[in-house]
Amino acid sequence: MTRGRYGVVVCTKCRNAKGVDLVNKNTRCTRCGKQLSLKRLRVYYRSDSQAEIADKVGVLNARLRNVEITEQNVTDNDPYIIAVKESSLGSNERERLLILARVLTRELGTFERSDLERIVEIQGTGDPDEMMELFNKLDEVYQPQRNVFRAVDI
Ligand SMILES: [Zn+2]
Repeated sequence: MTRGRYGVVVCTKCRNAKGVDLVNKNTRCTRCGKQLSLKRLRVYYRSDSQAEIADKVGVLNARLRNVEITEQNVTDNDPYIIAVKESSLGSNERERLLILARVLTRELGTFERSDLERIVEIQGTGDPDEMMELFNKLDEVYQPQRNVFRAVDI
């Protein structure tokens, strides 16, 4: 079994994943505020790298949201849900953002901050401003107008 200082746990009340320092005994859920005892929680992933943990938290939250979405029988025609589902298959942050950009471009033509807000809402994780900053740096995404994004090579 891999050892690591940090781990990924899931809140027992609201099913939100978060990264924790395993040195601690307790943690508080960032989403619902529930006090969680680390001893009683399943640790889904361990690593010494906080960046890696943050990455896994994002993936796990996207998956957990997908399960919730499926359970609620929400229609699959929602471009945002399609984007979140497809992007959750990416193996790292860059790949997920790229898939997100491509799906949003395919479904909406272009996308902007309000679209990213919707994505963050569905994912339960992420920050629209941070995402815009990252899209700025991606060669595969350009801005036909300021703060309006579009992926190239669909
Ligand atoms: Zn919670």
